[in-house]
Amino acid sequence: MPRRPLLADRLSGLGTTIFAEMSRLAVETGSVNLGQGFPDTDGPPEVAEAAVAAIRAGVNQYPPGTGDPELRQAIAEHQERCYGLCWDPDTEVLVTTGATEALAATLLALVDPGDEVVALEPFYDSYAAGVALAGGRLVPVTLELPECALDLDALRAAVTPRTRLLLINSPHNPTGAVLSRAELQAVAELAVERDLLVLTDEVYEHLVFDGREHVPLATFPGMRERTVSVSSAGKSYSFTGWKIGWVTGPGELVTAVRTAKQFLTYVSGAPFQPAVAAALRLGDAPLHQLRDALQAKRDRLCAGLREVGFAVHAPAGTYFATTDIRPLGFDDGLQLCRELPRRCGVVAIPSQVFYADPERGRHLVRWAFCKRDEVLDLAVERLRALR
Ligand code: PMP
Ligand code: GLN
Repeated sequence: MPRRPLLADRLSGLGTTIFAEMSRLAVETGSVNLGQGFPDTDGPPEVAEAAVAAIRAGVNQYPPGTGDPELRQAIAEHQERCYGLCWDPDTEVLVTTGATEALAATLLALVDPGDEVVALEPFYDSYAAGVALAGGRLVPVTLELPECALDLDALRAAVTPRTRLLLINSPHNPTGAVLSRAELQAVAELAVERDLLVLTDEVYEHLVFDGREHVPLATFPGMRERTVSVSSAGKSYSFTGWKIGWVTGPGELVTAVRTAKQFLTYVSGAPFQPAVAAALRLGDAPLHQLRDALQAKRDRLCAGLREVGFAVHAPAGTYFATTDIRPLGFDDGLQLCRELPRRCGVVAIPSQVFYADPERGRHLVRWAFCKRDEVLDLAVERLRALR
């Protein structure tokens, strides 16, 4: 009897995430892991202590479905303090299981089968999965390295009558691009003109370098009412494993996202929620400290990778640097990344997995620099074997 494939059609082709594959390789080979983006130093100790205190104080049962009220209040305060955006913490803020769930729940809530979602390519891998889960179709608009300028004509051309949503990620993983105010303004004008919903992934909002600024799309005229903004404590406070993320947006959109979210996890991370509230209330100091430390690490790793012989694209934001591997005589990043652990004891991410057509990113490899200086130095030292 012919057997139907186990995996549902909508998930076919998704396989195992590159992060799982490469982090497993790192453990198996004892490699320096510059692949998956997680810091090797925890965030502020007082925030960790707040989580311990919450566990001890018995904050261990289900929190409210929309999230701990104190955390929702702190998220609203943060948005107002940093961007002048005012949200009602009871109806316009939703706590999620990391930005990953926020993105998936938003896509499930807003996208019907056949709808198109226009996203910047290369795109973070959960976008393709989230759109696939919703039965939609991802339509890429490519940011071409090294400039990574947003091609507005391509963006306009990508919007069709089937377009439901623009999914905009800035600061952008994996390229490290930070969209300029003028580019964001153009995106906003297009969204208003074509009456599109917008989902913005701003998890790297505080990781922007060289005096650049992050401007949320929701601050542009006509955008507040059509934008779902997503962020997470993982990147801003270096607690990626806590998986506390959030959505902000107008009540109607947040209610739609909550409708999907409540049947994914319902809630999560009870004791981490008051701890993240405490983190958000620490003000700018820890955010600036992390940003400045990462800017120095960017420069350190990029200089090292350049010395090894890669063509290096130093990012404007995030904690990822991208290299072109061709100057060293390689032409397939996936193959190189699969060989690197055994060859050099270093793990990186092949950027081709972030492209709809992997050929476009075949020569690119992404390196995370959110690691201690000695770890970055060790990686560079080991990579010298490639020369
Ligand atoms: N969006 C982007 C662009 C990311 O790089 C990540 C990586 N963590 C996420 C979303 C997911 O964030 P979280 O860990 O909070 O789920
Ligand atoms: N966002 C992280 C990265 O891009 C990884 C998160 C994950 O493992 N899914 O490296």
